[in-house]
Amino acid sequence: IPALTIERLSKVYDNGFEALKGISLTVEQGDFYALLGPNGAGKSTTIGIICSLVSKSGGRVQVFDADIDEDFPAAKKTIGIVPQEFNFNMFETVSDIVVNQGGYYGMPVELSRERAEKYLKELGLWDKRNVTSRTLSGGMKRRLMIARALVHEPRLLILDEPTAGVDIEMRRSMWDFLQQINAEGTTIILTTHYLEEAEALCRHIGIINHGEIVENTSMRELLRRL
Ligand code: ADP
Ligand code: ADP
Repeated sequence: IPALTIERLSKVYDNGFEALKGISLTVEQGDFYALLGPNGAGKSTTIGIICSLVSKSGGRVQVFDADIDEDFPAAKKTIGIVPQEFNFNMFETVSDIVVNQGGYYGMPVELSRERAEKYLKELGLWDKRNVTSRTLSGGMKRRLMIARALVHEPRLLILDEPTAGVDIEMRRSMWDFLQQINAEGTTIILTTHYLEEAEALCRHIGIINHGEIVENTSMRELLRRL
């Protein structure tokens, strides 16, 4: 089974705006998939629906074998999400933010601490573990969101514009990290409006515009045609 199956997904916001016009796509297990499109295309809406942060108007979403309408708790356990906006408690320490997230998934605190140490080290944040998150730079906050999303070791990691506002050097090191965890077996979906980022990282790509998937292909095939 695919890691993610989306069928005829639609979204009409309360103000009547049709943000998704019945999109379908699948992402196979182990894939590194880019959802590429300009601002306003519907990328965040799609991700919000997968994580049940946004209600859908129609269609179906399945994460591995769990339909999000029928068994959201099962879907939630397998997903790690890196939202676009920083949404952590700015006064908690870096370490507590990651450890407490483990509690949210019902993990024993010892295990959460072990994982927090592992991912904070891998993401270059271990020296910052005792500072409050509000003192971190933008790039560090982004890496903190990635560490937090990985604490329960999700099979599917979804990142919404993970490198927006991140300088090129930091972006490269985030790319390396994401490629490493993908190589270790985690399926990754990221949204981006940079073709360059999709090209550097992804095996498959869906291009979304005005709430419609206008292209869904392998990166190799897309580059051959450009
Ligand atoms: P992207 O992530 O690709 O930039 P979004 O999914 O955030 O796009 O937004 C898609 C469209 O839906 C945009 O035109 C946006 O203004 C609109 N939109 C997003 N959220 C809402 C909302 N809560 N109510 C009305 N329109 C919205
Ligand atoms: P849902 O149908 O999922 O409940 P809503 O239409 O109620 O979503 O809007 C969710 C949130 O997004 C609201 O808090 C709203 O203020 C905000 N919002 C409204 N318009 C936009 C927009 N154009 N872009 C982004 N967010 C918006």
